[in-house]
Amino acid sequence: MARRQRVLITGGAGYIGAHTAAHLMDRKFEVSVLDNLSTGTRDALNRAQRIAAKDLDFYEIDLRDADATINAVRAAQPDVVIHLAGSKSVAQSVESPEEFKINNVQTTVNLISAMGQCGVRQVVFASTASVYGEPKTGDPVSENDAIAPESPYAQTKVTSEALLNDFGRAYSASVVHLRFFNVCGAHASGLLGEATSPATNLMPILMKRSQENAPSITVFGTDWPTPDGSCIRDYVHVEDVVLGIRLALAYAPRIVGHEVFNLGTERGSSVLEVIAAVESATGRPIQARPGPRRAGDPSRYIANCARAHQILGWHPQWTLTDMAHHAWLWQQSSAS
Ligand code: UDP
Repeated sequence: MARRQRVLITGGAGYIGAHTAAHLMDRKFEVSVLDNLSTGTRDALNRAQRIAAKDLDFYEIDLRDADATINAVRAAQPDVVIHLAGSKSVAQSVESPEEFKINNVQTTVNLISAMGQCGVRQVVFASTASVYGEPKTGDPVSENDAIAPESPYAQTKVTSEALLNDFGRAYSASVVHLRFFNVCGAHASGLLGEATSPATNLMPILMKRSQENAPSITVFGTDWPTPDGSCIRDYVHVEDVVLGIRLALAYAPRIVGHEVFNLGTERGSSVLEVIAAVESATGRPIQARPGPRRAGDPSRYIANCARAHQILGWHPQWTLTDMAHHAWLWQQSSAS
């Protein structure tokens, strides 16, 4: 019988990481998780194990600790690493750019060094749509478009991609970058989802507010050049992103060097449309208060995912309605 593929997920106790762990365990991968539990939780790992009815190996390790990282990678002996760990708040990165370099770039250096020393030659990296910066046109953004990061956070992802590209060249390794658009939603069972304390993204904020009396939200700009005046984003269900990760795992052994794929739905939704989807999922009206534009927000950001469709065979299944519905199931089951 063929040996099961061994996967090490950095940041595996976080939002996307725990969904990935559950999904891969369910599909007979042997999963190890490396996480410092700064934002991820043991509860998420327990839930992932419950969903898959399987156990994973957990290394409570901080990737900023180079020795501990090598020891964990040596112990886990993965065939492939899925590198999801990192800090992700754009606003925090503007306040503390040095901290973001350490949390996102230094950690990637340590991971690469550990992979190099331990003979790991395949990696799937969680990058971000924000590497493209402000879109020059209203057209969907494709992988060939210029890289123009506008926040320290986005810059750390650009730098990490480049470091991994060097790793691919130096070791004839396989490197797949997945540039995620606005990931939201939750496991369809409602057993796993995104932590909403603190909630920093639109959907988790709406979920949290929906549990309050007289929910309301400030809409960051209602005078954008969009049909309803609010910003447009490409929201993609976390389970579709996880599917993209699994397809990237299957694809990685076929390449030497690096490749990049956008993961979005190619459908734009405005802030007001997201609010309406959440209202319909929760049955609770939310007052949308017009507010000033948020600095650095592009008016419209939609993915062109032709590469992921054609090369990975990735086709996202879930709609914005599903994202809101599943996130609400999770919110109700998780919130105290
Ligand atoms: N947004 C908003 N009010 C909020 C939070 C977010 O109007 O309280 C808008 C934000 O301006 C953007 C969209 O919702 O147009 C998605 O924001 P989020 O921070 O979730 O993701 P981003 O696209 O910035 O990565």
